[in-house]
Formats: sequence, structure tokens, C-alpha cells
Amino acid sequence: MKPAELETLHAQCRQVLEEATETLRGRMGKDIHKKVRDFLMVHNKGGQPCPKCGGNITQLNANQRITSYCRHCQPGLLILN
Ligand SMILES: [Zn+2]
Repeated sequence: MKPAELETLHAQCRQVLEEATETLRGRMGKDIHKKVRDFLMVHNKGGQPCPKCGGNITQLNANQRITSYCRHCQPGLLILN
């Protein structure tokens, strides 16, 4: 990655984490075991259209974990398990 791309990626990662933290603080209250995931754009939305490109969201289930992603927007994802 070029330095400018790395800076952009870093800034966007921080923004996503800050927004998610704010959302979760507001919705979880004091129940730290509550799983709030419905605000995520693709998580657990396999088969539905990607909010960015409209393609189908792919979903993999393994070891009681769910991985959801868009093959168009997130190409090259390789899961080894
Ligand atoms: Zn997409």
C-alpha cells in the first residue's frame, strides 16, 4: 500500500470503530453480554443485496461463527478453516 492509502485506511478504521463503539454504548446499556449486530451493514445478511454495490452478500458459517461479505466489494477474501 502507498502511504496515502495506508493513512486513509487507518482513518476509516478508526471512524468505523468509533461509530460502532458509540452505537453499542447506546444500545447495550450495562449488559456487556448482549450481542447487538443489526446495525452492521452486511453481518448476518447473507443473500441480501450489498448496500454499496447491490450484489449478493455471501455468508459462511463455521464453528458457530458467521462471516458475511460482498465478493465484489471485498474481493480476494480467503478463509482457511
Ligand atoms: Zn458490494
